[in-house]
Amino acid sequence: MIDLIVRGGQVVTPWGVGDWDVAVEGEKIAAVASPGSIPAEVGRVLDASGMIVVPGGIEPHAHVSAPVAGTNLLTAPPEEVSRSALFGGTTTITDFAIQGPGVDIPAAIQERTDTWKGHSYCDYSHHVMLLGEIPPEIIAQMNDAVVDGFPTFKIFTTNIRPVAGIPVDERRLVGMGHLTGVMEEAVTRGGLMFVHAEDDDIVQYMYNKLIREENTEWQNMHVVHNNMSEDLSFRRVLRVAEWTGAATYFVHVSAKEGVDAIQEARGKGMPIYGETLHNYACFNSDNYKEEDGMKYHTYPSLKSEEDRKSLWEGLIKGGINSMATDEYCTSYAVKTQGRSVLDVTGGHNGAEARVGITFSEGVSKQGMSLQRFVDVTSANAAKIMGYYPRKGALAPGSDADIVLIDPSIRKTLSMNDFHIGDYSVWEGRDIIGWPVTTILRGKVVVENGQFHGAGGGGQLIPRKIDQDVLNRPAC
Ligand SMILES: [Zn+2]
Repeated sequence: MIDLIVRGGQVVTPWGVGDWDVAVEGEKIAAVASPGSIPAEVGRVLDASGMIVVPGGIEPHAHVSAPVAGTNLLTAPPEEVSRSALFGGTTTITDFAIQGPGVDIPAAIQERTDTWKGHSYCDYSHHVMLLGEIPPEIIAQMNDAVVDGFPTFKIFTTNIRPVAGIPVDERRLVGMGHLTGVMEEAVTRGGLMFVHAEDDDIVQYMYNKLIREENTEWQNMHVVHNNMSEDLSFRRVLRVAEWTGAATYFVHVSAKEGVDAIQEARGKGMPIYGETLHNYACFNSDNYKEEDGMKYHTYPSLKSEEDRKSLWEGLIKGGINSMATDEYCTSYAVKTQGRSVLDVTGGHNGAEARVGITFSEGVSKQGMSLQRFVDVTSANAAKIMGYYPRKGALAPGSDADIVLIDPSIRKTLSMNDFHIGDYSVWEGRDIIGWPVTTILRGKVVVENGQFHGAGGGGQLIPRKIDQDVLNRPAC
């Protein structure tokens, strides 16, 4: 028997957009069919008239219960992050299992699973993060991680912050040699690389230059984490990706040079992908000049207005595959405590706005197609990270993760629109269109502003990346 029919909405499926009914049986989509064609005793009919019906959003990049640099605090826990994500139309979150000295890959995954299991309202998985000089015995563990459903591996080509202040065994930078080793293993095992690519020589040189010139106010973040750094590092990583054949996803693309490098590689048929962040797409380095302008900061940095526009071009026309947040939710006090380029807190306060901002800024204000909107908020991340087709599609057999967006909502965002944190960079923004109803595996979890999710109801979703995604630019 059909438990739920979502009726009367404009439905975005992998094969097009149309006025269809979506039928749900248990936790799965049973059918997407012409209005009225699904016979049945139906448990419930949910009226979606006037709504856009899309697959649940997938957050590719979040730091949940993660240590906050320079403090002994953690970012917001799964309970808070997952609840607010569901309010915002995101039904699956991907964070990071962090390998490092004394913590091998199985231990890192176990630690994350313990953190999330029984504590999340939405579904989730973890990327494996590899730090520093990665020992061969760690590289040898990558195969089991892929087999166990964790086929994505994150590395950094920079230490991000001034290296003098970071103990040697806490440095993140993975050199080109170790990156080659990790990429070769990823290719052999069916894994995909997530890369935070910045040129560490440039970053460290610029920190020292600004210190020398006594010019370290946080407003100069984009001078340290600059366009040339992104350009050099993306192209160096791409050369290693080309030598090894490794499928690679660049996290938080921030500059025009990054978009161009990805496009060129994809033009050669390489399996290269990239994300940007919703704050990078909507703010620029001029916003740093505001009194509390550090609240906009996420590493690498906001760039110029021209860069911001190129990110939208990538999102709408191609070159950027997904919209992420780099969620790293702290209080306003913690977010604004750092006053210089040496100590500003990175990360974004909440994944809740991701789907709504992409709809409002992309679809409503710039004419992004609904299909492309679904690609950058859900389907592409699902394909690249291996959730697809269980997640990321309104199609028979997929999980019934369904979001209704009301395109007629016009309002100025305030903290009443958010369910996490004590501030938001989106306060005061005028939006057109916002998610209003969220269904997770067949259960209506957000409706009419009310939350009906079950504590601990989120599931760990095993992932496997399609060979097509690993071989060529498949989305
Ligand atoms: Zn991050």
